[in-house]
This record gives sequence, structure tokens and C-alpha cells, in this order.
Amino acid sequence: MPYLEINSSHFFHNYHTILETISPNKPQKIAIVLKDNAYGHGILEIANLAKQANIQTAFVKNTQEALSIAPLFNTITILYPSQNAPDFKTALKTPNLYFCAPSLESLQNYPQHTSIELKIDSGMHRNGISKTDLNTAFDLIKKRNLHLKGIFTHNGFGDDVNSAFYTQNMEFLAIKQEALKLCQHYGILRPRFHSLSSSGAMRASQFDANLPQELQDDLYRVGIAFYGYLCSDFQNPPLKPIAALFANKISTLKLKKGSNIGYSGMGILEQDSIVSTYDIGYGDGFFRLRENMQLHSAEGFRILPRASMDCISILTDAPKVCIFNDVRSLAKAFDTIPYEILAHLHAYIPRIVV
Ligand SMILES: *Cc1c(COP(=O)(O)O)cnc(C)c1O
Repeated sequence: MPYLEINSSHFFHNYHTILETISPNKPQKIAIVLKDNAYGHGILEIANLAKQANIQTAFVKNTQEALSIAPLFNTITILYPSQNAPDFKTALKTPNLYFCAPSLESLQNYPQHTSIELKIDSGMHRNGISKTDLNTAFDLIKKRNLHLKGIFTHNGFGDDVNSAFYTQNMEFLAIKQEALKLCQHYGILRPRFHSLSSSGAMRASQFDANLPQELQDDLYRVGIAFYGYLCSDFQNPPLKPIAALFANKISTLKLKKGSNIGYSGMGILEQDSIVSTYDIGYGDGFFRLRENMQLHSAEGFRILPRASMDCISILTDAPKVCIFNDVRSLAKAFDTIPYEILAHLHAYIPRIVV
């Protein structure tokens, strides 16, 4: 069986790097994003490491994820809660869980006393209510007796060298100012504010820290940086990837130069070689290697196309092989981002924390 080795010292190294870069004096501002099985790293394993680092705040995808780690954090926000989820009612009764409210309709649907975080669109035009609906939202929150715990947005331009990132920050500042007025008007306590993910927080935490206290963000929602990556063109903090994927050998053949390997014989040997298969394939969420791809294991062994559903062929007879300990080259080969390679790894692959 393949397994994912999670390097805890790399995790703590990343945490300290994040802390120093973003919020050296206020560690309570660092929240960890654990959605999608902690980006494929194993939500329980990463939540436990976060607890050891004394991180108090987490963000997850759904109620199932939230309930699985509920005792480990002060508050957990569910970014995509679904009323159809079988554990939705249990989640509503769990006091430290907050529910994202991305629309005016969602404010109509939550039962009274639900703790919500209101999502506002500040320019990404994805999820969230428009700033012009803020007043209506406050009215609904008051009438329907919802507990407004947070107001947040998602600045989706942190990786890009252009002004959109700053425009969105200014927009959220205006939203915060408006929200504070409405809080006063409706007699609602100031909710927490947050808007920045890994790259955005590294870029704008200084801008934010220079704002008057009540207008500052209270949290930074850090995901990918904890896992050791940043997909930014111009920032390169010393992060270390925390996951390494290993696969075990299934069988070995000694083959002559010119032999064809795998479906349609797409892998062709350039010399007499020893070739083994290893127990990971696209059925396990590992991307499917195709012809013309030049990929190597972490040890430098050539991985031959095409990959199968449950196995891949590699030019070695080592009993186990490290498929990756840094997904950047894979992400490049597959024309995607590290997030996608990692988040695809199936939850049943064992995660071993070392
Ligand atoms: C995924 C996500 C994040 C984390 O983004 P990273 O780039 O991984 O730091 C933050 N906020 C929201 C709303 C998200 O969905």
C-alpha cells in the first residue's frame, strides 16, 4: 500500500516561518485551513499538529470535517456547509462551529441562534453577498436572531503582480467600516474580520497591522504555506513541503532494450533494464502519467508512461520508492498547481506522521 509521510518538524518550521512573516507578535491571528482533508495531507493528523502548535482557529470544507476535529480548536468555520448533510443538525448543536453565510438566502435558512460568518464579495465575484446588501443582511441577522461571529472576504489576487490585490484590500477596508457602523446601529458586537490567505497575508499583513486596531483583520486564513508551498511569482519564504508519498514494489522484470511497457506499450526501454511496478496509480488520486512525460521519483528513478489505475512502472528494483517529496515538478508537468496534486490523494492512503 502507498503511504504519505508527514514530516512534523517541517510543519513546525513552516508555522514559525509563517508567524515571523505575517504576525510575529500576535500568534492568535494565525488560523489554519484544513479543508479537503487538509489539502490531502490527512485532516486528523494535521489538526493534531496544529493543536501542538497551539493554533486555536481552523477552517474546513464541510460539517463532516468540522465534527471530526471539533474538540481540537476554539472555533472552526465551515466554509461550505450543506443543509443536506446527514450530520448538519449535529453540527448546528456543536457550540464552537461557525457556519459560512454566503448569500441572503442562507441567512433566511439557518435556524435562530446559529453562529454565522457572513461572506462578502470584495471583487473576486465568486461567493458572498454584495457590499450593497450589507444593510439587508444585518437586518436579517437581527430579525432572525443569528449570531454574527465574523465578516469575511477572500482576496483572490494574492499571487498576482498587479493592482487588483490592493483594490480588493481597500474594498474590504470599506466593508469593515460599513460593518462597524451597522453593528452600532443594530446593537451587534463587532464580529471578527478576515480576508487573506497564505500569499495575501504575506503580502499585506504589514498594511493591515498599520490600520487602526478596530479595522484590522483578526485572522489570517493560512492553508498552502503550512503544507510547505506558496504559488506566488514574487514571494519565496523558506517553507518546506511536509508530505512525501511512498509506494511499495509489486513485482520486478529484467527486460531487453526496446521492450515496451504498460498499456499500448507506450513506455519503451532505451537499454536493457530492470523495471518494477509500484502500488500507486490514478485510482489512488495520483495523476496519470502519459507518453512524452519525463518524470522521476525523488531518488531520481525514471517513471515510465503510461500510468495504470493501480500501479506505475519505474526503472529500479528498490523495495519502495519516494514518488515525491515536493510536488512542484509534478504540478509543472501536469500543468497545474501543487494544491491540485495534493488534494487529489485519496483519504484511504495511510498518513504517517514522523
Ligand atoms: C482555501 C482557502 C484559503 C487558504 O488559501 P491558501 O492559498 O491555501 O492559503 C483561505 N480562505 C478561503 C476562503 C479558502 O477557501
